[in-house]
Amino acid sequence: MRMTVLASGSKGNSTVIASARTRLLVDAGLSCRELLKRMKLASEDPAALDAILITHEHQDHIAGLAVLARRLRIPVFITEPTHRAWVRMVTPRTTMTYAQWLDHVQCEKAARAVAQAATELGSSANEPGAPGLAPETWESSATDLHAAADPNAADPDEDDTPAAKPDPSFLPSIEYFHSGANFSIGDISITPFTIPHDAADPCGFVFESRSEAIRMAIATDLGYMPPNVKAALKRIDVLLLESNHDLDMLRDGPYPWAVKQRVLSRVGHLSNHATAEFLARDYDGGATWIVLGHLSEANNAPELALIAAEQAIQGRMTLLGSRILLAQQSAPLTPICL
Ligand SMILES: [Zn+2]
Ligand SMILES: [Zn+2]
Repeated sequence: MRMTVLASGSKGNSTVIASARTRLLVDAGLSCRELLKRMKLASEDPAALDAILITHEHQDHIAGLAVLARRLRIPVFITEPTHRAWVRMVTPRTTMTYAQWLDHVQCEKAARAVAQAATELGSSANEPGAPGLAPETWESSATDLHAAADPNAADPDEDDTPAAKPDPSFLPSIEYFHSGANFSIGDISITPFTIPHDAADPCGFVFESRSEAIRMAIATDLGYMPPNVKAALKRIDVLLLESNHDLDMLRDGPYPWAVKQRVLSRVGHLSNHATAEFLARDYDGGATWIVLGHLSEANNAPELALIAAEQAIQGRMTLLGSRILLAQQSAPLTPICL
């Protein structure tokens, strides 16, 4: 079984999990073009992917999803709340601001007055050339709004599309799963588990290759380690675990206070300290590799994350078999094969 971390961090996350027969991409948080480039660098064949799995709808996990899924024509496994939240995100908004609504009301009022005056004069406001056609005024302003709010209006990756712009939320095939309910893709058995994070229905995954009896897990984007996550991360051979920030660097760092509060909250991200605490107290020591991931570029230093995790493990002699790696934001990690 193989884990290839293509990218990890707040600018994009994506990991390949592969058995002898099945290849899965977990999250697609870079552009389609960049994901294809990273796969090539890591000698992962995109055409051999069987499915994409999504942990949650934050941009750093889903940015390249639609384009990649359409390009590869493979199914997307996602929870229904996450899918709904993502569709809302990518669907152009047509709602008005209050000022635009006031304008709209004024236009309608003026149109009604003109229509009434025309009727009184014995003509019809519906005749061609009648002034004050409010609905058209409204439609054109709505169209402008629509264009301005469309985040996908100039997606440079969408170079294989026909002339008509596709629905930005279109996916060739969608499969819903539920956290806690095991399912299979090819010969990989997957157990999604709920994680505490500020998204619609976020989850981590445990992957088990039935033929190879190897278990791998991904647990990033979680504010703390609840009992269900600790239970899910037992008997794992390769563990991609979040070690997001150094508490002091975050407190003294450049983020606005509200963002600091969000990161530190119970639905934010795991600090080096929280990860070390998990490794020292609850981790069963079974993993051959622990990959520390989702490191903050602004509020962490790779050495700090590594030292915290190593010290946690060194405190327990039974855990010396676990080796620690650092996942990177800007380049894929060498594939980890067991
Ligand atoms: Zn993230
Ligand atoms: Zn997130």
